[in-house]
Amino acid sequence: MKKVLFAWALCIGCLSPASAQHNFPVKKTAAEWKKQLSPEAYQVTRLEGTERAYSGKYWNTHEKGIYSCVCCGLEIFSSTTKFESGTGWPSFWKPLKATCVLEESDLSFDMERTKVTCSRCGAHLGHVFNDGPKPTGLRYCLNSVSLNFAKEK
Ligand code: FE
Repeated sequence: MKKVLFAWALCIGCLSPASAQHNFPVKKTAAEWKKQLSPEAYQVTRLEGTERAYSGKYWNTHEKGIYSCVCCGLEIFSSTTKFESGTGWPSFWKPLKATCVLEESDLSFDMERTKVTCSRCGAHLGHVFNDGPKPTGLRYCLNSVSLNFAKEK
């Protein structure tokens, strides 16, 4: 019986994404997130939506400062690694720290992508691609609505 249960648990583990199994330090119910966030932010961060290109508030922001997670406030990206990607989404070549984000395979919409999630609360932030600029060659393509920008004082 134990063997069967173990196999079952292993199977479920394979099917669910890493972020679904991750024990995030900040946990809230769907109702709590809905109360805290705008409908757009809820759709993107908690239901893995994507804002329309050029519709967000930060794709064309060039001021110095820090971008944090709209859900939990974790500081995730800096303007020093932001670059002009021409995509209509705010784009960065590196997070503030590697531990700020979780990255995992996303096969939705018949595409092979890597999704980027806040490591503190599990918010969906966007995707990371391998066509970014030096020095990392990465392009973190994020939703503005997942972020809050604080201008450097
Ligand atoms: Fe977060």
